[in-house]
Amino acid sequence: MSESLLTFWQDATRCKNYSQPTGRLPPMKQRYSIFSLVRNALNYHADWQEAWRSPDPKPAYDVIIIGGGGHGLATAYYLAKEHGITNVAVIEKGWLGGGNTGRNTTIVRSNYLWDESAHLYEHSLKLFEGLSQDLNYNVMFSQRGILNLAHTVHDMQALRRRVYAIQLNGIDSEILTPAQIQEMVPLLDCSSNARYPIMGASLQRRGGTARHDAVAWGLARGADERGVDIIQNCEVTGFKIVNGTVQGIETTRGFIGAKKVGIVVAGHSGVIAGMAGFRLPLESHPLQALVSEPIKPILDTVVMSPQVHVYVSQSDKGELVLLCPGRQPADRGEPVERADRSVPGLQPAAHAAAVGRHRRYLP
Ligand SMILES: Cc1cc2nc3c(=O)[nH]c(=O)nc-3n(C[C@H](O)[C@H](O)[C@H](O)COP(=O)(O)OP(=O)(O)OC[C@H]3O[C@@H](n4cnc5c(N)ncnc54)[C@H](O)[C@@H]3O)c2cc1C
Repeated sequence: MSESLLTFWQDATRCKNYSQPTGRLPPMKQRYSIFSLVRNALNYHADWQEAWRSPDPKPAYDVIIIGGGGHGLATAYYLAKEHGITNVAVIEKGWLGGGNTGRNTTIVRSNYLWDESAHLYEHSLKLFEGLSQDLNYNVMFSQRGILNLAHTVHDMQALRRRVYAIQLNGIDSEILTPAQIQEMVPLLDCSSNARYPIMGASLQRRGGTARHDAVAWGLARGADERGVDIIQNCEVTGFKIVNGTVQGIETTRGFIGAKKVGIVVAGHSGVIAGMAGFRLPLESHPLQALVSEPIKPILDTVVMSPQVHVYVSQSDKGELVLLCPGRQPADRGEPVERADRSVPGLQPAAHAAAVGRHRRYLP
């Protein structure tokens, strides 16, 4: 490689200082790009910066977020980015994204019936559409479309109602005929002989999947860059509250003062609220997904069957990702059996994959 070309790459990839120039802030982040990839390849990838720091907790913060999942990290990231509140700590008892965030089925969509849900999820979907660029981190957002199958006349009526409501909210949604579904997913058995014949489907083309842990890592990197302290392996065990005002939290790494505390711990919300002395009107339920061993690409969209209560997609690594929402599978074969019922064409592949030695459950 010529020296001038190398100099060009080095100039092109030199970090821009877009952090605030105070002594306390972390060092500016390297930009991830094709240029930095090539430049680091030349150095055998020895010079990559850490994506986020692992600081000791400070005595006190303006805001503490309990929970280092996608929501806690997003809260910290947008507090810093949109509101300039950077004296923030995210306190996580395990590792980043080790809760629901690292074990979900990665679906991102906004095809909701009710206005409130539709607008909330549409805002989120729009954020996802620019998230990789915003974070300078590839969250592998793939707008591969989400199909919801209808198997009965009633399903079709409910589907039309939903699609029209979604359209009235200005969100993309359309109805497909069995022929159009067959063209889109050749693997599906769209014949009238199927155990659950497919009468139609709704499709949100902008829906899809995102690499779940990359979302956590990208948000963590972006928050850290703006001065947020991310503290892992630190469990919150209690609160200090004086005259009804929070003073801080007790943790396995000692007391940390805070003016405000956000509880962003998903299924543990009731537990943490209990520590703070109040009850939440919430119940937590376990939810499991089945992930097969990787197989060759067979499915490039997300297929859901609300009637059969199962949905299936294929990860970029090739795994089939199956979930039975609403209740727990009776046994480990149930998601596969349900997938067979709703998407009979998947049967051999789903069995081959799921009965294989390396299948695993994500509780
Ligand atoms: C199997 C499955 C499939 C799913 N599929 C989808 C899907 O396809 N699409 C979708 O949009 N959603 C899906 N979800 C839901 C989605 O994953 C969650 O809503 C989301 O990840 C919640 O993020 P969170 O940051 O609120 O919680 P979490 O990611 O669970 O993070 C909470 C964090 O709080 C930490 N914590 C708990 N107690 C303490 C404590 N005392 N001190 C410190 N830290 C503590 C935990 O360790 C955890 O890391 C699925 C969920 C599951 C389980």
